[in-house]
Amino acid sequence: MSRTVRAARGGTPTARNWQSEAALRMLHNNLDPEVAERPEDLVVYGGTGKAARDWASFDAITRCLTTLAEDETLLVQSGKPVGVLRTHEWAPRVLIANSNLVGDWATWPEFRRLDALGLTMYGQMTAGSWIYIGTQGILQGTYETFAAVAEKRFGGSLAGTLTVTAGLGGMGGAQPLAVTMNGGAALVIECDPHRARRRLETRYLDELASDVDDAVRRVGAARKERRALSVGVIGNAAEVLPELLRRGVEVDIVTDQTSAHDPLAYLPKGVEVEDWADYAAKKPDEFTDRARDSMAEHVDAMLGFLDAGAEVFDYGNSLRGEARLGGCERAFDFPGFVPAYIRPLFCEGKGPFRWAALSGDPADIAATDRAILDLFPENESLARWIRLAGERVAYQGLPARICWLGYGERHRAGLRFNEMVASGELSAPVAIGRDHLDAGSVASPYRETEGMADGSDAIADWPLLNALVNTASGASWVSIHHGGGVGMGRSIHAGQVCVADGTALAGQKIERVLTNDPGMGVLRHVDAGYERAAEVAAERGVRVPIMEA
Ligand code: NAD
Repeated sequence: MSRTVRAARGGTPTARNWQSEAALRMLHNNLDPEVAERPEDLVVYGGTGKAARDWASFDAITRCLTTLAEDETLLVQSGKPVGVLRTHEWAPRVLIANSNLVGDWATWPEFRRLDALGLTMYGQMTAGSWIYIGTQGILQGTYETFAAVAEKRFGGSLAGTLTVTAGLGGMGGAQPLAVTMNGGAALVIECDPHRARRRLETRYLDELASDVDDAVRRVGAARKERRALSVGVIGNAAEVLPELLRRGVEVDIVTDQTSAHDPLAYLPKGVEVEDWADYAAKKPDEFTDRARDSMAEHVDAMLGFLDAGAEVFDYGNSLRGEARLGGCERAFDFPGFVPAYIRPLFCEGKGPFRWAALSGDPADIAATDRAILDLFPENESLARWIRLAGERVAYQGLPARICWLGYGERHRAGLRFNEMVASGELSAPVAIGRDHLDAGSVASPYRETEGMADGSDAIADWPLLNALVNTASGASWVSIHHGGGVGMGRSIHAGQVCVADGTALAGQKIERVLTNDPGMGVLRHVDAGYERAAEVAAERGVRVPIMEA
């Protein structure tokens, strides 16, 4: 059964309290056709990342959230509501566990077997935890990453450079705009014309070329004229990228955001988009082998550009891991983006803080934008982002904003928003959450915890502690997922959302959660031996027992 879902708007909740109403609106918002990639299948983004297991579960969650009391907690097991328990008003209204499997069983074939039996679902990071806000969510992180690349290699701006990447899906669609916001030219390869057109419509992509020749001409001219321009081209990355290398196109930066984390979501060479779903469903093993072979060719071309001097990095989709399984031995010769650019930010507890206006009114986000500029006047890159986002980002679903804030900053923003709700400056409460990709909430050895200083990449105690801490601190809903971003067996991660409903109680909870949650990021990096994290802990009063002796 398929249907259209859209979050309720306005200042009157249909649920019994705003904490549950926020979860309800954010679940529905995740499946808004403006937000979700395939709402008819409950798929929000990231290959098959779903908001609920099936429509019966969706309806049951909706019913429960509508009637849930202030001292009750709904339990969600891989997208299915399995119980309502009596707790207390500081407890989360919803506790979510998605896609978790015991170590030896944590493989895609076993997951798919259980999925086919209707026993689990893939929650990605923010799909099954109801805080996906569309492509903007990744835009800021991607903007930060390309800004860091510009800083490292190109004198602080991407003007006069060409970035080549692939994938214009829910996350990957942010790449062209993030590059042009940094002043550069981008060529993005996408095999599905429907996806490419969607990015054109939402202004994330400037132009769509008719073929590779046309694309190379357009971006070549932009690079020469130091003009910001993004061009999409329809094709298979495993064919187009090697072709660009053969032609000797001058490329400065190469990365990729196809859904490589799931070999069934990466289109092998020689397979038509129309045949994709059927082929993957009928012959998953054969399809996986072909996808991995293609990924190996794709990565070979990336290595060719690396050898020619380009800045090359893996953008957190497991492409290197899958390419190695496809026979590419040098796949890990280029780094992942976290050790290359993001870890210093994690040491300060900085990560993708985001919020959504439950009113549905863009004026509420404009007001919160002003509040952020007012709260952090010294942070120039934050101010540049907030201004650019206000001008260039088209909202999908409920108006929302993201910016990276660290330890000591997030709770100040949250408290200000809560005051603005209380005073009536905002027309309804605000849901404040974050990606699971954050400083102290994820174990993912191919991505967020790749190459940790002490070798602790695969230690997964941290995301579990993070979820426990947020539950103990008063978050409105808390989630623990497995396999997000990089696929089954490769990550464990946690999320939280708190609701600023303008009450004094919400203020107390927000202060604790938005202090302790980024605090976990500082602690995780102090423990791994990062000096900057130890400085931040000392400067900002984060207690580390072992250092107090
Ligand atoms: P998505 O499934 O929405 O989009 C993937 C896109 O890749 C699709 O449009 C698909 O048509 C295209 N594609 C697949 N095979 C292709 C090929 N061979 N050639 C050209 N195009 C091809 O996924 P998404 O949400 O955009 O996520 C992309 C990847 O990035 C995922 O693996 C995800 O886990 C990862 N990810 C990274 C970050 C990060 O911070 N770096 C965050 C979230 C997700």
